[in-house]
Amino acid sequence: MTTTSFDQLASAILDGKPATEDDALAVLRAHDDELLDVVAAAGRLRRHFFGKTVKVNYLVNLKSGLCPENCNYCSQSLGSTADILKYKWLQTDEALEQAAAGLKGGATRVCMVSSGRGPTNKDIDRVTDMVGAIKAEHPQVEVCACLGLLKDGQAERLRDAGVDAYNHNINTAESHHDTIVQTHTYADRVDTVGKVKSAGMSPCSGLIAGLGESDEQLVEALFALRELESDSIPVNFLMPFDGTPYENTWELDPTRCVKILAMARFVCPDREVRIAGGREMHLRSLQGLALHVANSIFLGDYLTSEGQAAEADLELIRDNGFVVLGSEEDTTAAAATTVESRDPAKRRRGAGTTVAPNA
Ligand code: SF4
Repeated sequence: MTTTSFDQLASAILDGKPATEDDALAVLRAHDDELLDVVAAAGRLRRHFFGKTVKVNYLVNLKSGLCPENCNYCSQSLGSTADILKYKWLQTDEALEQAAAGLKGGATRVCMVSSGRGPTNKDIDRVTDMVGAIKAEHPQVEVCACLGLLKDGQAERLRDAGVDAYNHNINTAESHHDTIVQTHTYADRVDTVGKVKSAGMSPCSGLIAGLGESDEQLVEALFALRELESDSIPVNFLMPFDGTPYENTWELDPTRCVKILAMARFVCPDREVRIAGGREMHLRSLQGLALHVANSIFLGDYLTSEGQAAEADLELIRDNGFVVLGSEEDTTAAAATTVESRDPAKRRRGAGTTVAPNA
């Protein structure tokens, strides 16, 4: 595809003609020389639907590790020897304290996550208590729950307790699913997304890139998410934890990650495309460029890994000319203030010193 073609594709999408699978493949396979053209075209869609806002989400891991499922990519899974935090359910006051920290940091959505195949009815009781406590103190907050596969009636109970959205990622293409997990099926995952929609909560479902899938399978997953009408699409980049079957699996580089996000934008132009786990590790210095395509990030840490400092996330948003959704802040002024308040670090190494140079 040529520069003009990416731009024409964006124009056609804005005129109501959805991207095809061939269009998506062309974006994914764009030459690195065309990266800025891809970003410029995808950025037109991003700005059309989301302006310069970035939605900031905050994860609270309610229960970590100890999961009986065998998702090969997951540090919390059965058989993983990854050295992660493992703990049982947080108490309501602990969950409230964690959520409050994220909201104070600028998040507008709190994502309450627990490991496990799916919640028991007692687990639903716990989570509804937590949601009630969070909403009582922070009535403006959006709450998303992510508790695994849902049984009949559980989605309605969460909705009635005030849960706004429910996350359940399809993770990968149906044609690739059984190679990444064997203890549940792709159909199980789709069933839970269906229950979420039927209950009237906002479905949040996304994917993980870098799991050995082909380009065609990445496209297949994105079109499945379009079909499922996922309102928000977290795009994770595999973090290959030591002690999991995917340790030492490095299939991604920063430009590939930007193209994957751009493809998500072209296929699902008006959906929240969230840069999720692996943002710092895989996008590295292209995080800012990626924000011109995606419109949502997690603030601070992930479920079992640390992200960059929350202040660096906010700086990333400001420095690229975006604003936190729901914030009235004048980011240009805020960025200038931040820079002015910093005294440059004085060189104390290299020439003129006896300390090794920074090279
Ligand atoms: S992804 Fe969820 S269900 Fe799968 S192993 Fe991890 S915590 Fe368990």
